[in-house]
Amino acid sequence: MSDAGETSGGKTKPVVYALSRASRCYSCDKKLVPGDITKLEHASEDREVLCQNCAGLDKLEVLLSGNAKVTRLASKYSSVKFTVVRWSALWKTYERVGLLLEPEAIAKARQECGAS
Ligand SMILES: [Zn+2]
Repeated sequence: MSDAGETSGGKTKPVVYALSRASRCYSCDKKLVPGDITKLEHASEDREVLCQNCAGLDKLEVLLSGNAKVTRLASKYSSVKFTVVRWSALWKTYERVGLLLEPEAIAKARQECGAS
């Protein structure tokens, strides 16, 4: 097992995972499809997958990487911030796909950038 790359400088950053394959929520048994945002709880050997709802992240919205300006502004406005990563089978590593932020922060940032 290699480190998932969640740590840097000895500090753990909050990370959520975009599923790369179908799964089920450990808590509510909801069916999860690839791309769904989940949180992994490391319980001894088994990894418990929690859906966005059970993880308490249902109020948050994913902002995919792509527009650096919007990303920067939105992450500044949002008081809650998670990095969204997805397992890449090709590179055998987690790649960052975006951020999980407050919808209002994303909307505000988009507005200021003139994007919709
Ligand atoms: Zn659930």
